[in-house]
Amino acid sequence: MDVKLRNKQVKKVLSNAYGHKNVSVRNGQGTAWGWCDISIKTTKSDKCSCNGFYCQACKDKMNATSQEAEQLLQGIEFYNYTDDMGSRNTELIIQVSAS
Ligand SMILES: [Zn+2]
Repeated sequence: MDVKLRNKQVKKVLSNAYGHKNVSVRNGQGTAWGWCDISIKTTKSDKCSCNGFYCQACKDKMNATSQEAEQLLQGIEFYNYTDDMGSRNTELIIQVSAS
């Protein structure tokens, strides 16, 4: 798998959905090689009541965005591994921030 090419694909798919400048895709280095580290910026919820910390409405929106992004990336191949506990993990991290 060509990680650079994969990240380009990821960036393209997410840019279409969230806007080019709201999406950043990085690749993990060293032991984390192969990890795909995604940051998405979104807007705060209409029902926002943030006060120093994210309010529940914004947390819900960020969670929903993260799940939606994962859906959008379903056609793209990521590395999978099985951890010590026997559960299967995908080397994909999606972080969403709202402002
Ligand atoms: Zn809020």
